[in-house]
Amino acid sequence: MTAEPVIDQQHPPAALPATVRASLSPSRAADFKTCPLLYRFRSIDRLPERPSVEQARGTLVHAVLERLFDLPAGGRTPQAAGDLVGPQWDRLVTEQPELAGLFDPGDEPGTAEFLRSAAALLEGYFAVEDPRRLEPAERESLISAVVDDELLIRGYLDRLDVAPDGALRVVDYKTGGAPREAFEARALFQLKFYALVLWRTRGVVPRVLRLLYLKDAEVCDYSPDADELLRFERTVVALWQAIEQATARQDFRPRPSRLCDWCNHQAHCPTFGGTPPPFPQRAGAADPLRDARSRPATPGADE
Ligand code: SF4
Repeated sequence: MTAEPVIDQQHPPAALPATVRASLSPSRAADFKTCPLLYRFRSIDRLPERPSVEQARGTLVHAVLERLFDLPAGGRTPQAAGDLVGPQWDRLVTEQPELAGLFDPGDEPGTAEFLRSAAALLEGYFAVEDPRRLEPAERESLISAVVDDELLIRGYLDRLDVAPDGALRVVDYKTGGAPREAFEARALFQLKFYALVLWRTRGVVPRVLRLLYLKDAEVCDYSPDADELLRFERTVVALWQAIEQATARQDFRPRPSRLCDWCNHQAHCPTFGGTPPPFPQRAGAADPLRDARSRPATPGADE
């Protein structure tokens, strides 16, 4: 669902050190933290996942919010956002034909209801923010940094705001309908990941990490500090080492939780009576920039 990732052109690392041998995205790191077997299914077996209606709605809403900021500030109205929904869905379906399969051919009422539900989430957005008063510094940027000399960490930011005094605010749109408590730890983990990248590349600890819950029209702000990011960096490196060990041993255990209800891979999971496929021999890609195990999720698709 995404193009081959490239290094952020606006803030590229000066040069990728020869010592870098692996890369990790927040989505994949969060997969391993949530359930090592889920990580294996997604990143090593690369089992296909049919996009759900919820994921498609998330991708669509993210696309609309990104394009909304292309408009002059005064034109970023609820009506303008609503007008973007149909054209953006058409564009996404053209670029990602698997999305078309979510609705039966000719199911116009189903498609119309889907588009209405995306528009309803946008109303939630306007209830918590006025985009006419914002000028984001970056939208849907792929950012990256090297930690511990060996590990490239990278991911897509939904939005980065920079205040006149240089303070950074990282904003992540949440469109999912799943219970918040089941996903909030994962969402904060991802935001800290972005904060760590920004701190390491720009030398500034973001002042605010903001989750915008569009369904509930709620804002969750979190302010990290340098000590916390230092500890978080150690956590990320330890997580990567655990992934490397699990890969070497071909040992990824299931960790059942409430999130199993949203897992695409129950049929292969021993917890649900399934059997994982044979472990692929290609695990352990050498080129960190093309390592599919660490490919960042498309904005909105990882709700
Ligand atoms: S069903 Fe649950 S335990 Fe099994 S792989 Fe998915 S998240 Fe892990």
